[in-house]
Amino acid sequence: MLQVINYPHPTLRHRSKALRRVDQQLCRWIAEMFQLMYEHQGVGLAANQVDLPYRLFVMNPTGDPEQKDQELAVLNPVLSRHRGSQEDEEGCLSIPEVRAPVVRAAKVVLDGFGLDGRPIHLQLEGFAARVAQHECDHLDGVLFIDRLAPTALAEVKPALEELELEFRSRRSAGEIPDDETIHRRLAELEQQRCLEPQHQG
Ligand SMILES: [Zn+2]
Repeated sequence: MLQVINYPHPTLRHRSKALRRVDQQLCRWIAEMFQLMYEHQGVGLAANQVDLPYRLFVMNPTGDPEQKDQELAVLNPVLSRHRGSQEDEEGCLSIPEVRAPVVRAAKVVLDGFGLDGRPIHLQLEGFAARVAQHECDHLDGVLFIDRLAPTALAEVKPALEELELEFRSRRSAGEIPDDETIHRRLAELEQQRCLEPQHQG
């Protein structure tokens, strides 16, 4: 079973690789990602947040599991045509209990592929545009706290330090592997499904 990993887990800083193929395991993971997203009352979840190194995210801007027609699973997403700007409070399932204002483009175009291999091409605005930008950032190893103004960052610093402390104690209790083990596992997963495996042969 997948689990949501928390800041400062190293996989959250991993720059994900494009997916080359979709298999049953990947479909199961995506179903689990939707489940986890709803369990945590989220509106989006990127693959790094469940310790997977793939360019893939799920979202449902309504956060309502009943509204299946609002669900989107996007493989290899690309954002373009950023227009305008909007500032609003943002949070992240991997940075629990931290919220702060983030400036994002008001409109974006999202391209990618669905699980069925069909191309996705959507013009997003408002909250949906914000969610897609937040999730695409994750795939580049970028967190919303990286985009805060210095005063906002200073305000959330104590909460971040608490999460860092918790991470260190969980790691010393053996619940979280060391960096080398984490990176080796990510490289293996990339090799299975990505365009540019890091270590071939
Ligand atoms: Zn997030």
